Amino acid sequence: MNEWSTENLHGDYAQSLRVGKMLYDSETEHQRLRLFENDTFGRVLTLDNVVQTTEGDNFIYHEMMAHVPILAHGMVRRVLIIGGGDGGMARTVLDHASVAHVTMVEIDESVVAFSREYLPNLSRGAFDDPRLKLVIGDGADFLKTTEDRFDIVIVDSTDPVGPGEVLFTETFYGHARRALSPGGILVTQNGVPFLQGEELTNTMRAFRALFADWGCYLATIPTYAGGPMAFGWGTDGKSRDVSLQHLRERFATAALKTDYYTPEVHKAAFALPGYVRRLMPAD
Ligand code: SAM
Repeated sequence: MNEWSTENLHGDYAQSLRVGKMLYDSETEHQRLRLFENDTFGRVLTLDNVVQTTEGDNFIYHEMMAHVPILAHGMVRRVLIIGGGDGGMARTVLDHASVAHVTMVEIDESVVAFSREYLPNLSRGAFDDPRLKLVIGDGADFLKTTEDRFDIVIVDSTDPVGPGEVLFTETFYGHARRALSPGGILVTQNGVPFLQGEELTNTMRAFRALFADWGCYLATIPTYAGGPMAFGWGTDGKSRDVSLQHLRERFATAALKTDYYTPEVHKAAFALPGYVRRLMPAD
């Protein structure tokens, strides 16, 4: 079998994954959705040919976007997820017994329906958890009007093209900040800085104008190719400074089974190499 799925997100640099078996290929109302098997990564979900998630390496992305803010905050009860259609983020957030409520706003109902059927290993029952409220709609519209407040807002979005574009605007970040309870944290996926540096700089400029503490942290996810991925971090609280000792205690109390996250990795993820630091606007 010699078919390859090629992602051409970056012009000069493409990534290809071998398609063992195409399980699904269809146009939704919003985007082209494909699912195929790959021997190394298991099932691979692409939207408009861009890898969204794989069974093999999604744990890195989900653990780092969920556990870092939740354990840094220390008293999270209410979480908002924007996007996240595959259910992996909801699952990872709901693995925290202390979380009482999750609202997830996903624009594309078919991603949810599809992932429930074809990627059950990601959501592992999250869609049936009574603590989850699923809203089908545009995350930007939701945040514009919501009166709800959240301890953590996680933007588990596609890249800033198509329906995801609006989730990278200053207006959207401003509305996300308004929806945070005191000490709340906004976390965003900001692509791979080596290849998408401008995207990170733009988000950081917006965060600088909005938050007392802003920045990003890093994790390397093989199928988001091109080096480590950046996660935007914005808060008016002090949770970035949480001590390693506190993180160890919280991690032990939460009794999470993780394959990437450790309290030590959490602290180290905020150390930025020079080329990423140079993408940050000055204080
Ligand atoms: N982890 C992936 C990545 O970094 O490429 C992205 C995960 S995927 C679950 C992102 C989801 O965001 C998709 O299901 C997509 O439908 C959804 N999405 C895109 N734009 C949206 C919007 N404006 N409002 C809500 N959800 C949106």
